[in-house]
Amino acid sequence: MKAVVYHGANDLRLEVLPVPKISISEVLVKVAVCGVCPTDIKKIHYGTLPGPRVFGHETAGTIVKVGSAVKGWRPGDRVGLHHHVPCLHCHACQHHAFAQCPQYKRTGITAGFEPSGGGYAEYVRVLHFCLPGMVRIPNNCTFEQGALLEPVNTVLKGMKKLGLLPGDKVLVIGQGPIGLMFTRLLYIHGMQVAASDLLESRLQRAKEWGATCVVQAGKEESAGKLEKWAGKEKLDAVVLAVPSDAALKEAMAQLRGGGKVLLFAHTRRGNQTEIDLSNICVDEIDLLGSYSSDFLLQKEVAKLVFTRKIDTEVIVTHRFALEETASAISLAANPMESALKILVRVEKEA
Ligand SMILES: [Zn+2]
Ligand SMILES: [Zn+2]
Repeated sequence: MKAVVYHGANDLRLEVLPVPKISISEVLVKVAVCGVCPTDIKKIHYGTLPGPRVFGHETAGTIVKVGSAVKGWRPGDRVGLHHHVPCLHCHACQHHAFAQCPQYKRTGITAGFEPSGGGYAEYVRVLHFCLPGMVRIPNNCTFEQGALLEPVNTVLKGMKKLGLLPGDKVLVIGQGPIGLMFTRLLYIHGMQVAASDLLESRLQRAKEWGATCVVQAGKEESAGKLEKWAGKEKLDAVVLAVPSDAALKEAMAQLRGGGKVLLFAHTRRGNQTEIDLSNICVDEIDLLGSYSSDFLLQKEVAKLVFTRKIDTEVIVTHRFALEETASAISLAANPMESALKILVRVEKEA
């Protein structure tokens, strides 16, 4: 089978690998679509992991083989995959911190080599502990929707951490695919949303997805516009969907006492910043982080995506063939203005 193998920083090669063999407790999936996700881009760009391995973790496809000990699945079932699944028993899981669970940290889907997602290949093997993460794609829905369950899940998880009430005013900074998903989910859940970004086209999309106030980041008049929109009560929450420290400081100043900041894009180790700690102690502002998905939200996410309450297809702007994966990744790493969500279509007719 064809696979795009990572050998080190920015070194991706199209190679021929054997179709993975499965054990009696595993499933083989023929990949249809795999999303390009910033976490993979960073690993590829900075070469943070040793090669060889096959990345790609926002995967959807068709089951082609089912191990004899696996119940509930058949060849022909169309599925969206979750490469991380928590054990639900350990200390971290008991505290609902699934992303910190040792099992969750292990990737359980592979196209060969050490499991790393494997979606940039024609077939993936789904290890037994990842089977509970498979979601059936309804007949009237696409593989692309199946592939986007995972990023939507991460956003819904982040939103829930904010503990908002309908009517609350929330600013979402950054309107790339993730920021837009925040805008949409907050709107669907009854929040009033302000959106900021450098790019006008993204602000336009944010408006279409429910933002009632849009401001261009970095423009002088933006702060005043936002202040006016927030009113005397100020903002209830700010979501940072870009890793900007300047934006974090501005955000803190716009929050009401007891407001919340969600860091969603500060994924690089070593990032430091200065904050006035009395904002946290006296003003009771909560500085929160959220990473990866929440297994228990899968049904809710599937409903949101498959009923098109969040119509993920709207934000897919580029589709590449498997052979063009390196171009897909470099476009995602250096997006042109029109680029939002980028997918690799492993199956041409997917
Ligand atoms: Zn992802
Ligand atoms: Zn656990």
